[in-house]
Amino acid sequence: MTKPRIVVVGGGYAGATVARELDEVADVTLVEPKDHFVHASGTLRSTVDASWDKHVFHSLDNLLINGRIVQDSARLVSPRKVMFTATSSIDADYIVLATGTSYPFPAKFIEERAWVARSRLDRQREALAQASGVLIVGAGPVGIELAGELVHAFPGLKVTIVDRNTEILHAEEYTPELREELMRQLGLAGVEFVLGEVLGYMPPVDVGVFEDFKVATSAGTEISAQIWFRAYGNKQESDYLDAQLGAARRHDGRIRVEPTMQVVGFDNVFAVGDVNDVAETKRAHTAMVQARVAAKNIKAMIQGQEPTFRYMPRPGRIILPLGPTGGASQIELPDGSHKVVGAHETAELKGHDLMAGPIVRLLRNEESAA
Ligand SMILES: Cc1cc2nc3c(=O)[nH]c(=O)nc-3n(C[C@H](O)[C@H](O)[C@H](O)COP(=O)(O)OP(=O)(O)OC[C@H]3O[C@@H](n4cnc5c(N)ncnc54)[C@H](O)[C@@H]3O)c2cc1C
Repeated sequence: MTKPRIVVVGGGYAGATVARELDEVADVTLVEPKDHFVHASGTLRSTVDASWDKHVFHSLDNLLINGRIVQDSARLVSPRKVMFTATSSIDADYIVLATGTSYPFPAKFIEERAWVARSRLDRQREALAQASGVLIVGAGPVGIELAGELVHAFPGLKVTIVDRNTEILHAEEYTPELREELMRQLGLAGVEFVLGEVLGYMPPVDVGVFEDFKVATSAGTEISAQIWFRAYGNKQESDYLDAQLGAARRHDGRIRVEPTMQVVGFDNVFAVGDVNDVAETKRAHTAMVQARVAAKNIKAMIQGQEPTFRYMPRPGRIILPLGPTGGASQIELPDGSHKVVGAHETAELKGHDLMAGPIVRLLRNEESAA
């Protein structure tokens, strides 16, 4: 019997998981422009510590036993076809959209070849070693975590964080206790906060490039540094949807899904991970759980059954390491209240190995990936 054709678009946490789960029962094609898997949880540590590169960049070679990986970007996706160019496409019985989000360097990379991305990180670390001042624009979770990595690795470095909001971690999901604890630890390490002020103009150099510059906020605060990072601009990657599938795309780029992970209005198209509109804190772990729900439903449909597996949004959990030994985390309790834990627990939760273990197991095709 011919196996159904499944095209998974995007080989991050969600896409790699769903592709592996379906590899035995279907003819799986994973479409991913990068020649490697990026473990995003570790990229900020890698920005300061070269020994971390091996935890961030992983080969996809052992992920699938039967299926194949097409190293390309999907440019136009319709309910039964994924197109690369006007003349090159793959037909599919099921499509799983797992294209996640893009984010400025160094949190995520646009480089498609691992060696190019690693070279960029090498140059970044060399530049940081010479710098005396770094400016981070954006006091969201990426900006805060990056500041923690910088001051841990380069204790004399003057790090300034600017944000237009009057508090760090401005989004509603963060509690005041979490903000206070992170500001306390970063303040002790010498990080300066310029909050409630907007930069009058952006630094006249590229992100990450070493060059003396001076900027001023509209309130007149002057900041001098040699390197700056943009810590804002998370963008859902879903521009490739055709007019039909585009009906399920929200104004912010998220794709609307049913609890079964099916795209609203399309039985054979699924969307998992950061790219969909499930209302919860977006995390690698939840992306992988969603991927398993989608895979179970597709397996059921292949056997002629209804897709009855449903994903229930998970309680929020925000783990924010500040280097390997610092940080704070916010854990949602079953009654909906929040508990904030400090540096020691955060290091235990994520800080030491930044969750690299489960990823290695997934990509080596070992059974117990988390
Ligand atoms: C700095 C940082 C730290 C984080 N730390 C944690 C953490 O500690 N714990 C945690 O749980 N989560 C963490 N997250 C969040 C986590 O990384 C995301 O939730 C996770 O990456 C979502 O996985 P995904 O598979 O949906 O998308 P992604 O990981 O974004 O993968 C999407 C993939 O799709 C590919 N793609 C994009 N467009 C196309 C296209 N047109 N065609 C084909 N392929 C395409 C991309 O190349 C990419 O490989 C962190 C995120 C960042 C940025």
